[in-house]
Amino acid sequence: MQQSHFDILIIGGGQAGRRAAEGAREASPSATIAILGEEIHLPYDRPSLSKERLLDPDDDRCFVRQRMDFDEKRIELFPGQCAVSIDRQAHLVRTEEGREYGYGRLILATGSRVRWLPSFGVPGERVMALRTLEDCANLSGRIRQGARIVVIGAGFIGLEVAAAARQQGASVKVIEAGSSVLGRVFPPAAADHVARLQQEMGVEILLDTSVRQVTEGPDGVAVEIGVETLRADIAVVGIGVIPNLELAIKAGLDVVDGIMVDKEGRSSDPDIYAAGEVTAHPVLGCDRSRRLESWQVAEEQAYAAGRSAAGSPTAYAAWPWFWSDQGRHNIQMLGLADSCANWIAREYDHDRCSFVALDDAHTVTGMITINAGGDIGAGRRLLGTTQDPAQLRDPEASLRSLIPRRAAAQGSA
Ligand SMILES: Cc1cc2nc3c(=O)[nH]c(=O)nc-3n(C[C@H](O)[C@H](O)[C@H](O)COP(=O)(O)OP(=O)(O)OC[C@H]3O[C@@H](n4cnc5c(N)ncnc54)[C@H](O)[C@@H]3O)c2cc1C
Repeated sequence: MQQSHFDILIIGGGQAGRRAAEGAREASPSATIAILGEEIHLPYDRPSLSKERLLDPDDDRCFVRQRMDFDEKRIELFPGQCAVSIDRQAHLVRTEEGREYGYGRLILATGSRVRWLPSFGVPGERVMALRTLEDCANLSGRIRQGARIVVIGAGFIGLEVAAAARQQGASVKVIEAGSSVLGRVFPPAAADHVARLQQEMGVEILLDTSVRQVTEGPDGVAVEIGVETLRADIAVVGIGVIPNLELAIKAGLDVVDGIMVDKEGRSSDPDIYAAGEVTAHPVLGCDRSRRLESWQVAEEQAYAAGRSAAGSPTAYAAWPWFWSDQGRHNIQMLGLADSCANWIAREYDHDRCSFVALDDAHTVTGMITINAGGDIGAGRRLLGTTQDPAQLRDPEASLRSLIPRRAAAQGSA
């Protein structure tokens, strides 16, 4: 039985695993660091899988670091290794293959897997989700001129796939059980704006529509909705994710819908940290810890957790930020849209719009931009300031002019 010991051992070879390793290396030049990853690839970032790489399989921007970068930083990679248990007393991790790895500090960066319903059958070549490089390769090979594509779920990934498929000349129907697109995260006005842009790209959106059954055949897919059956070449399922919490639960760590960590990424065991999308971490502008699925968390929270685990306590304290590219349209979100009550719309033109979130005391708590990403910089400096809704609503009034002097001076310093 092979056994190795590392000062910092990371489980999960995704973006958060990589960033945690990089943070740990920066904090400790001498620590031994390793990543155990279930996937066989070098760590990669997922956002381009539903954007550039979906349109061009040769687009390699998802591989932010090359093999030699890991070698240079002395980060050992163990791809194809699935951790199955943690012995907290012995500081040992066991893998499916029966290998054991000892650790000084452990970082869990196990991320999420796609949510799937039994009525969708078994994932196959024609009924699929989009999470991994393999999913992307399969889907990208099937999106082409004239292909009929049904997307189940009008969340960000579903809408990005829909837009990319339209760019390739496919015909696309998006089926959504809720009454709006992005219903889990966006207020109705912003969601309607996004839905309109999708429709103008030629995407057909069916709201309040549940899928009863999906059946894959040799020539295509049958998607049953109510009494109707849609025939398609492929169905793409995008109904959310399930965090990979099993290891943490089995190890007895505090877990809610994510692994509970403090702002430095420490779990309920002082020798175990957690990083990225699998964590429930303190969030600026929110009174409880949250699990957030975003590039920012995998990048920045993970980096802080890595540094902290390696002996340089580093707090992650950032306003949540997220972006989505849907065809030529760019959408960004600052703060947590689902906890805001009052949204002020700034309509610039047919395509461009921003929404500013105010609480009842007229304090800015968030922002959504649609093709108006230039507002995000000002939005960051408006967060926490009190604003007059009428001024915010006026697209002629520059947002920068509304930044209080002290915040403006700090921003330009
Ligand atoms: C298609 C797509 C597009 C996206 N686009 C955007 C975007 O535009 N903007 C944005 O902000 N965010 C986007 N995201 C979200 C963002 O990419 C994710 O939040 C991020 O990938 C999370 O990284 P992670 O490393 O925490 O988790 P993951 O990416 O899930 O990585 C976890 C890794 O751990 C491995 N693992 C799990 N369990 C074990 C185990 N027991 N042993 C060993 N290894 C294990 C998994 O196989 C996986 O490789 C997108 C996500 C997807 C899927």
